[in-house]
Amino acid sequence: MLGLMMNYPLTVPGLLDHGYRIFPQSEIISILPDKTRHVYRYADLYRRSKKLQYALLHKLQVQQGDFVGTYAWNHYQHMELYFAIPGAGAVCHTLNIRLSGAQTEFIINNAEDRYVFVDASLVGTLEQIAALLPTVKKYIILNAPPGFSSSLPEFLLYEELIADCPEDGSWVQVEENDACAMCYTSGTTGLPKGVLYSHRSTCLHAIFLSLPNYASISSSDRILIVVPQFHVMAWGLPMAAVLAGAAVVLPSSQMQPENLVRMIMEERVNKAGGVPTIWQGVYNVLKKTGAANIPLKTFLIGGATAPPSLIENYQRDFGVEAIHAWGMTETSPVGTLSRLHPHHSLLPDAEKIKIRSMQGQQLPFTEIRAALENGEIAPRDGKTVGEVQIRGVWVINAYFKSNSQESFTEDGWFKTGDVGIINQEGYLQITDRAKDLIKSGGEWISSVALEVSLMAHPLVKEAAVIGIPDEVWSERPMAVIVPMEENTQLDEQELKTFLSGYFVKYQIPDKFKYVKEIPKTSVGKFDKKKMRQLYAEGKL
Ligand code: ADP
Repeated sequence: MLGLMMNYPLTVPGLLDHGYRIFPQSEIISILPDKTRHVYRYADLYRRSKKLQYALLHKLQVQQGDFVGTYAWNHYQHMELYFAIPGAGAVCHTLNIRLSGAQTEFIINNAEDRYVFVDASLVGTLEQIAALLPTVKKYIILNAPPGFSSSLPEFLLYEELIADCPEDGSWVQVEENDACAMCYTSGTTGLPKGVLYSHRSTCLHAIFLSLPNYASISSSDRILIVVPQFHVMAWGLPMAAVLAGAAVVLPSSQMQPENLVRMIMEERVNKAGGVPTIWQGVYNVLKKTGAANIPLKTFLIGGATAPPSLIENYQRDFGVEAIHAWGMTETSPVGTLSRLHPHHSLLPDAEKIKIRSMQGQQLPFTEIRAALENGEIAPRDGKTVGEVQIRGVWVINAYFKSNSQESFTEDGWFKTGDVGIINQEGYLQITDRAKDLIKSGGEWISSVALEVSLMAHPLVKEAAVIGIPDEVWSERPMAVIVPMEENTQLDEQELKTFLSGYFVKYQIPDKFKYVKEIPKTSVGKFDKKKMRQLYAEGKL
């Protein structure tokens, strides 16, 4: 028998309606690419999103289901695009501004974007490929300075486009399972693939993420969203914030650690989200300048393994709680998140850090498991390693324009390509990406485990470990290290001795390379594909 309750759709504009009605005074602060500070309130976000939605429908003739690209930093106009594009029944396709021209061309053509909204400071790449983008009818320029000019064909200025539009139109009615946004995987392990989010998956992700056991977001929070809006919808934080009425701080291009620390202090930021590289940089600045009266209480850290030493350092030195989370474009992105429970409170500090350094537990209505090579499910014993699989309300069902079932199991789980262990309490620990594991003499070595240990050494700033071909062992680990102080050579023997406290002999790298910088992907992760390639070409 069916329940007798209303079938009220979960939609992205519905999130904004709620934020506007209940929290019209909540602030959105943007530090723009030209360093100016822009501040307005949810009431303005709502009003301007309505104007933009009108412009999309009536000036640009956007049709339901059209793809509309954004190529922009984190700021208030990007927030307006997040709501107005789905509000016009179209799909907000966030483009990664750090990809090459060729990758961007592939992605825009694959998505068949009709329009692209682009920051004035970012037009360069698009100017070079515009002739190769036949589906794009017009470019709309955000934050254009006076006298702006560009070789982009047929461009309009955002502020002029929306200036005379009415602000009282109705959102286009959609079904909750309709698409609202799309993001391509960053292509770390292959060609980028489109992940098409639905209104429903986006709303549910925002609702659950904001609960106290997860990101814990409320109207008393002031959240610095460092993770880019072009990367998995900034981890869903803008949606969760608007639902909860939290103040939002958006750094645009001003992402240097010194600037972030200034924003934390001046904007009284108490929560934030970003990748480990960002938090390492912020830590180094705070260590130098001191963190007296720092308003920051907790931040989400994820996208790559958070070194336990970093989580511990924040806690010990500044009393700031780093919350480790794991996920991917295909999981909207939050898959697991690590928090302690009351029964952990009596554990020694070192044990607590160990738990918090794991990638954490699944969220409601999502499930994780680890699968062995023979397809059997690994026991949750804290030691059996398997491929991590996930299913749930905000997990991908199929890639955009793809019939491939390669990434899915027969019983409908998504194969993440990550390898890990799940313990009795359901905490996941990622040990590696399947493609980054090193197989030496038939034994697996976790590159991640070596990296986090090396980064706990006081003279090591960053460390990445890759497998290099070896005639005897087929592969051996090699460590690529950025020393804490520039131009210092670390003693290799000393590092080996340091590692021997945690690893058996065959797992310890034979080679150590010292570099100024480790190659990173477009979203700031160690680019091991590039490193392996550089090594093969003798350039590392
Ligand atoms: P790409 O796959 O192109 O790098 P994503 O941003 O979707 O783009 O990356 C997802 C991957 O990042 C995961 O599959 C995992 O390998 C890694 N990752 C994300 N969060 C964590 C984490 N907390 N610890 C370890 N690895 C992580």
